[in-house]
Amino acid sequence: MKPTVLLVNPWIYDFAAYDLWAKPMGLLYLASRLRESGLSVYLIDCLDVHHPLMGETAYAKKPLRRLYGTGKYWKHRVPKPQKLSSIQRPYSRYGIDPQAFQKDLKSVKRPAAALVTSLMTYWYPGAFEAIGLIKDMHPDVPVLLGGIYATLCPEHARTHSQADFVIPSPSQYWPAKLDNILQTIIPNLQLKKKVEPFTPYPAFDLLTNIEYVCISGSFGCPFRCAYCASPYLSPPFLKRDPLALFEEVLYWHKHYRVRDFAFYDDALLTDSHRHICVFLEEVLRRNLDIRFHCPNGIHITYIDRDVAKLLFKAGFKTIRLGLETSDPQLQDHLGRKFATGEFERAVALLKSAGFRSDQLGVYLLMGLPGQSYEQVAKTIAYVGQVGAIPYLSEYSPIPHTELWKAAVETSRFDLASEPLFHNNSILPCWSGEALENVGSLKAMVREIREKNR
Ligand code: SF4
Repeated sequence: MKPTVLLVNPWIYDFAAYDLWAKPMGLLYLASRLRESGLSVYLIDCLDVHHPLMGETAYAKKPLRRLYGTGKYWKHRVPKPQKLSSIQRPYSRYGIDPQAFQKDLKSVKRPAAALVTSLMTYWYPGAFEAIGLIKDMHPDVPVLLGGIYATLCPEHARTHSQADFVIPSPSQYWPAKLDNILQTIIPNLQLKKKVEPFTPYPAFDLLTNIEYVCISGSFGCPFRCAYCASPYLSPPFLKRDPLALFEEVLYWHKHYRVRDFAFYDDALLTDSHRHICVFLEEVLRRNLDIRFHCPNGIHITYIDRDVAKLLFKAGFKTIRLGLETSDPQLQDHLGRKFATGEFERAVALLKSAGFRSDQLGVYLLMGLPGQSYEQVAKTIAYVGQVGAIPYLSEYSPIPHTELWKAAVETSRFDLASEPLFHNNSILPCWSGEALENVGSLKAMVREIREKNR
């Protein structure tokens, strides 16, 4: 009998969470590679909104799903960790009941190993809970912890997680260290030696219901923004053959009737005429009834007339532009990615291609060290004047980024010792007047949205 490897996508513990095409891509890449190497894999997705063991209960209403596969998660209010007790907001566990998790766990007969992924650094309680439950039920099974938290905070993970192995590397890169550990744990395991990036396709077929598929035309990012960990997490920047990407889309559309595809690229439009445009032209040529979304945002500087037209015609429904701020000095400080006038030009081109204002969301950063609320207010007003919709992105301090040191020095919390304080919902680098004005900034955004409905 084939050995079974258990894969776990843990719960989110947070003040808020929403499924905006969020899937554990690294874990799903691992799953398909393990299957290809002859192992049996069993996925427990704690964020599965369609989990067969979940029914509506007095405390958990069935999650509301919205357009294009996005929507809410199962949610259960829980006490805040003691360290967050000063925050006056409810805190919740997002995902399935732990009892459903335990039933799933019980059905896996002695797995050879358990691989638990992690995402945001401040979501580590979910990964720890999963590890604890695995250890209770299968005390002899080695548990490996990987993913973003494990990569950014490996020492914290080693000290507190109870995992037998902490693997600080995003799993789509399949680090040699993981090979070695698995080969030690599973006797006679013959892992495929050469692993090509982007293949085999992430195992979305393991999900209970495929509402959408996340795709990548590239890994990493050629830019170096002061607040972002992409260059640390995913070096080097790799582009993929656009027609191979098309084949992946076709595969999910043809075999699983998937219509919604979310790009996970950090720099989707780089060298667009040789990459994304080739892909989109193929989508148009084959006349597929599919839709695309780019929750990560796209680069303003790369939007020209051809790109804007192709995005619209090929079925992009959700455009997000990364503006960050309208303050030129702050743009320089963060790592400038577009020139003066390019934002207005990009919005005008997208509109003349056919997009409505309410389809054009613009990410703005709020809560950076040293940033004033007036700067944010000016940026919101500017986006409204240009005719797009502002989306506030609350700054989360991330270890190994250029801005980390300033964040640690500015924060009202001890960021360096406690990842729970990296949570963007608490705006850890703002205090006093700035924090008091968050409500009015959100009201400005709501007003612009209302006008463009
Ligand atoms: S913020 Fe975006 S553009 Fe900047 S480094 Fe990160 S992924 Fe790249």
